[in-house]
Amino acid sequence: MNARRPALDIAIAGGGMVGAACALALARRGFSVALLEVREPVPWHAGEPEDLRVIALAPSSARLLDELGVWQTIRATRVPPYRRMHVWDAASGAEVSFDAAREGRAQLGWIVENKLIAWTLWQALDTAGVRRLCPASVESFVSRDDRVVLDLGNGEHLSAALLVIADGADSRLREQAAIAVHGRDYHQRAVVAHVATEREHEETAWQRFTREGPIALLPLAGGRSSIVWSLPEARAREVLALDDSAFCEVVGVASDFRLGRITRTTPRASFPLRLQIADRFAAGRCLLIGDAAHAVHPLAGQGANLGLRDVAELASVLGDARESGRNFAAPHVLRRYARRRRAASALDAHAFDALERMFMWQSPAWAALRGAGMRAVDALGPLKHGLAAHAAG
Ligand SMILES: Cc1cc2nc3c(=O)[nH]c(=O)nc-3n(C[C@H](O)[C@H](O)[C@H](O)COP(=O)(O)OP(=O)(O)OC[C@H]3O[C@@H](n4cnc5c(N)ncnc54)[C@H](O)[C@@H]3O)c2cc1C
Repeated sequence: MNARRPALDIAIAGGGMVGAACALALARRGFSVALLEVREPVPWHAGEPEDLRVIALAPSSARLLDELGVWQTIRATRVPPYRRMHVWDAASGAEVSFDAAREGRAQLGWIVENKLIAWTLWQALDTAGVRRLCPASVESFVSRDDRVVLDLGNGEHLSAALLVIADGADSRLREQAAIAVHGRDYHQRAVVAHVATEREHEETAWQRFTREGPIALLPLAGGRSSIVWSLPEARAREVLALDDSAFCEVVGVASDFRLGRITRTTPRASFPLRLQIADRFAAGRCLLIGDAAHAVHPLAGQGANLGLRDVAELASVLGDARESGRNFAAPHVLRRYARRRRAASALDAHAFDALERMFMWQSPAWAALRGAGMRAVDALGPLKHGLAAHAAG
């Protein structure tokens, strides 16, 4: 190890979608970067069935992926756009709809397989000069005055001026950086599957709020839809245990047969849900991004989009510092990133949490009030436009 300078500018622990995008963004700003990931990402092939995990990708995220030079490759595969979003409340019957055409855009966003994004980013790392270390696990680290030294647990060490922690919601490295989190466990699981429906999805993201939780049907290529159904844990277990035809029936009922009967389904998977925000996004020479910094309820489809906004901000703050001849690892530079992104993501996370609570309260008086609020939002063009613009990033 060099005694005077760290071996690298930046080491990134965690090569999920957010960590890999960060590696690419920082390398393109001229930093020497290593990306350390425990597992190779699963290869994506056009001939294989879609990944069960998809995300609603916002235009701001597509813009970032475009700047990183990967969006055209992703778009050239199977990336259906959604042009409308329709949200309705089972209890009050109130509805709100958003239409890209009315927002002056071709689409509100795209439904993209997680595996496709991660794999495409991963393929671009070598050309961008990112040092990929995989399989490699950052077991621990020591933050010194002039560098952070990573212990890879196999006798190897790596030093860098900064460590970006992107190891997901259960981040061990965040704990080692002594950064606390706050939030709450929703005691819900998101059940996901891809389904075929009797009626066309009309390139619309449908979401119905029911007494048990929201169910979203997101448009996939070939007319199918991807469901994300948030349910209390016990009910999720019951639903996961159903055979295909019983599952199709309960999904049809939960979605009020808006797309007709559910005619086919893939196997199911499920994910635990929680609200979690790190108290600080920087400590010493460590920075947090992605789910390691914030985990949010999927009802607004924004978790990965928030992570990609962290990436854009981090690359801009560190890149600008360096290009203006300042020390990019100086505490005030790191604080600038941390302050901006923590404030913005905490605001969003709490807004999604407030929505979750608002839709879970089921008293008739509350449902009537909620319905009136939704009808007002639907009728007020400028307010609706503001919400759509915020979701687009
Ligand atoms: C059901 C569901 C639906 C969702 N829908 C949407 C949506 O529509 N839109 C949206 O924007 N978001 C959505 N999200 C959220 C989105 O999936 C996540 O925000 C995003 O995948 C987080 O990416 P990440 O890279 O931060 O973390 P992760 O994907 O968790 O990646 C962390 C990586 O770090 C690696 N790692 C862990 N520890 C170490 C270590 N010590 N050393 C090295 N590597 C390590 C892991 O192997 C992993 O690859 C949804 C989430 C769920 C559960």
